[in-house]
Amino acid sequence: MPQALSRRALGKTAVASTLAASAGPFVHTRQARANEQVDVVVIGAGLSGLNTAGILADSGLDVMVLEGSSRIGGRVWSAEESWETNAGEVPIELGASQISGSYARVLDAVDRLGLELLDEDRKLLPFSAHLNGLHIKADEWADSPVNMLVGEERNIPAMQFGSSMLAKLNPLVELDDWLDPKFADYDVSIHDLLKRNGVSEAGIRLAEVSGLGANLHGVSALRLFQERTRGTLELQFPSVEGGEQWPKNIKGGTAVLPQAMASQLPGAVLTGQQVMAIDVEEDGVDVRTIDGGRYRARFVVSAVPFSVLRMVSIWPKPPAPQYEAIHRLKYAETTRAFCRIKEPFWQADGFEPGLFSDGAVRMFWAIDNHKGEGEHRGMFVLTGWSGQHVAALSPEAASQFLVDELARLRPASKGQVEILRFHSWGRQPFAAGL
Ligand SMILES: Cc1cc2nc3c(=O)[nH]c(=O)nc-3n(C[C@H](O)[C@H](O)[C@H](O)COP(=O)(O)OP(=O)(O)OC[C@H]3O[C@@H](n4cnc5c(N)ncnc54)[C@H](O)[C@@H]3O)c2cc1C
Repeated sequence: MPQALSRRALGKTAVASTLAASAGPFVHTRQARANEQVDVVVIGAGLSGLNTAGILADSGLDVMVLEGSSRIGGRVWSAEESWETNAGEVPIELGASQISGSYARVLDAVDRLGLELLDEDRKLLPFSAHLNGLHIKADEWADSPVNMLVGEERNIPAMQFGSSMLAKLNPLVELDDWLDPKFADYDVSIHDLLKRNGVSEAGIRLAEVSGLGANLHGVSALRLFQERTRGTLELQFPSVEGGEQWPKNIKGGTAVLPQAMASQLPGAVLTGQQVMAIDVEEDGVDVRTIDGGRYRARFVVSAVPFSVLRMVSIWPKPPAPQYEAIHRLKYAETTRAFCRIKEPFWQADGFEPGLFSDGAVRMFWAIDNHKGEGEHRGMFVLTGWSGQHVAALSPEAASQFLVDELARLRPASKGQVEILRFHSWGRQPFAAGL
């Protein structure tokens, strides 16, 4: 006669067979969770997802956060590698690092969570340019034989060409002016805006190289004006705050912020839960992960970038404008390499320390150590096509390429630059760009 199983024993058997059939305890956690029903599932444990989860939990809702990667923070990522600053050794920030005086919600969270802010120690040294095959000092640009600009344009510093055109043509004053229909005429590509304002062809090319966008045909002038207006208002903050120095960094690394936010949540933040489908039904939502996990909630909030949300099946299909935004919004490649500079090689070649170029080394930042002693820091900052090409290499090959390429443009840098960390945001499966 078969032995009757108590409820408790049955439970144990069920767990045991799940474990036996699976690779390890991780699956047990997932299966157990799958039967749970919560009020809200938040997808993504970046700042947006964690902030949303905090607000909802404070309102009394039962919230669960599903994070696809093995780490929380998303585009906040303090690396294991560090470098020397006035504040001592600080982690290299692969993503967000600067907190400005106007970042009210971030400052509020920092305050509530008892985190400490430090004055940012990142003084950029001046830049020389390498354009059309020639290395040029900043004060030689106006009369340089490779300066193809026309008339007054010639006197604008090469690296500031794009930003100075934006400043000149920006009609917006207030932060939300971009929503005013009277500025709708500026929602054209930055290429078309520059053209209709008589900027020369050489000027439009230089605007692209000097950072207005990877593809001037694909970036809205109105969007750039909005960002510029925000930046201009930002500059007013030091005086508003009584001379306080901005921007600031978080002591211990920016990643301390999402970690502290997650630790305050009453509900679970589950990592390694890559969402692949959201099925919206009449009485709730089913959220499914790629390893077969299933989560049931009354509501779901997606806090992942559109660049990766477009890989998630959403059923039924969202309304047309949202669907189009999710699937078509462009994200920029941003590739960075963080270095130590052994000797200030610019003293040997006589050019400004930083470099701005129309080649694969789009920008090399030389960062003062502020102490007047020890090593300087350096950063390769690649956007647009240069970032995409270099990011296609392995991190080791890309690092070697950048060091060699800088030495080709500036022989004095040979042997003086060591890359500590290479990072491409476009190649991150959970971000796919910036
Ligand atoms: C190089 C760089 C420099 C920056 N500098 C600054 C700065 O100095 N100051 C500043 O304020 N901001 C800066 N930012 C911007 C700032 O980092 C972002 O605005 C912010 O981190 C975005 O947060 P988020 O939560 O919206 O998105 P994310 O941080 O991208 O979070 C999304 C989360 O969703 C997860 N996810 C994605 N797909 C899935 C899936 N299918 N299933 C489950 N989870 C998934 C991701 O792993 C991630 O954790 C910078 C960004 C970059 C890249």
